[in-house]
Amino acid sequence: MRTRIEPYRVKVVEPIPFTSIADRERALAAAHWNLFKIPANLVTIDLLTDSGMTAMSAHQWAGLLDGDEAYAGARSFQRFEAVVRTLTGYTHVIPTHQGRAAERLLFEAMLKPGDVVPGNTHFDTTHANLERAGARAVNLPIAAARTPAAEHPFKGDIDLDALAETLARERVPLVIITVTSNGVGGHPVSLANMQAVRALCDKHGARLFLDAARFAENAWLVREREVGLGERTPRDLARAFFELADGCLMSAKKDGLVNIGGFLALRDGALADTLRRDMVLGEGFPTYGGLAGRDLEAMASGLEEVTDPAYLADRIAQVRSLGDRLHAAGVPVMRPTGGHAVYLDSRAFAPHLGPLDLPGQAIVCALYRLAGIRSCEIGQLMKGHSGPGGTPEGAVDLDLVRLAIPRRVYTCCHLDYVAEAVELLYAARSELTPFEIIEQPPALRHFGAKLRPRAPR
Ligand SMILES: *Cc1c(COP(=O)(O)O)cnc(C)c1O
Repeated sequence: MRTRIEPYRVKVVEPIPFTSIADRERALAAAHWNLFKIPANLVTIDLLTDSGMTAMSAHQWAGLLDGDEAYAGARSFQRFEAVVRTLTGYTHVIPTHQGRAAERLLFEAMLKPGDVVPGNTHFDTTHANLERAGARAVNLPIAAARTPAAEHPFKGDIDLDALAETLARERVPLVIITVTSNGVGGHPVSLANMQAVRALCDKHGARLFLDAARFAENAWLVREREVGLGERTPRDLARAFFELADGCLMSAKKDGLVNIGGFLALRDGALADTLRRDMVLGEGFPTYGGLAGRDLEAMASGLEEVTDPAYLADRIAQVRSLGDRLHAAGVPVMRPTGGHAVYLDSRAFAPHLGPLDLPGQAIVCALYRLAGIRSCEIGQLMKGHSGPGGTPEGAVDLDLVRLAIPRRVYTCCHLDYVAEAVELLYAARSELTPFEIIEQPPALRHFGAKLRPRAPR
């Protein structure tokens, strides 16, 4: 059979809101054209993020009732620990309330001011937590990752020459490889690249950690794309990545298939002892780490379900079918489609707007107005800032709009609706108007900024 069907059926339904264009225009004005400030009950299809928006399975919901809420040594912790050990091969498993808590704990324990931490491209909270620990976060993506239209199978790979140079020149206690690389478009890292990174880290005495938020999607894309690996199971391929690293940081809100949760897992017992000691003040006792026992149950089941080949095949095919349909319609999308999202190339989409006219923001607002779809600007608004000494803001490298697909939440029909809306918007792209920022917080400005459309110059 050629028809692709979701490998699950629906057991519980949640109505989605439908609104009029007039409702949405009012909502945009009230939110100062910032989609983070639009109430979710005015969003028909929510593609703001894939984080924490997962639909849990019947098995996970059943596990919630079975959660052991003992303060110390809960049965749910033991199950969670066993699942993570089997998946990763790491001995020490430390739950945290989400990924960023794992980042803060690890970096505070490992880093000193002046350290340099290279990566294929650090996630934004990872970047901020590295700098908070006094380290310098350095992104070393391969050159192809900077060209949205380039058809390269492993745009998540790190630039090995640049990494070798950084390791030789700087004090580098830690290298972080993020799978898949969210920062460059959800693209996979190849096993060959990971092996080469391990060899470089060994040569220079650096630790290697995986930011494993999307480890299963990465494993599936490696299976599909890397020569000679097509017969291996996603679980086996994921394990190969974990084995090459000294430990991992995990936001379980992605491939943990849960709404909240995260963890650290590692081999080094002394470092694990330090982390367990440090976490008590901010996070909680080491066997619950800021989570309820039931959350640990849900995470344990999610981590088992996520490597199911039927689930992954559908997940990746669903995202790809949206990307391929838009590409075939001539819409400028990042190529090839990665693991968890489709990215529009904002400048190519709206070439009549300049980079500082916030073309991505024009697209996300217009797409919401047209069809009630919430997407996320990852471009000038999110990443732009003024230069040293308050010099004017320059154009950022890549200006993208991300349509992130939550796991197991939307059907093919929902995504057909999204594709139609984006195609209509693209056909009317000459009507997209420039935006300007009227107020912005000093850090992570996209969350709090107030904006307004302005007349073309
Ligand atoms: C989401 C994410 C994080 C941060 O995790 P939270 O659970 O949101 O705190 C870190 N790294 C990557 C790659 C992520 O996608």
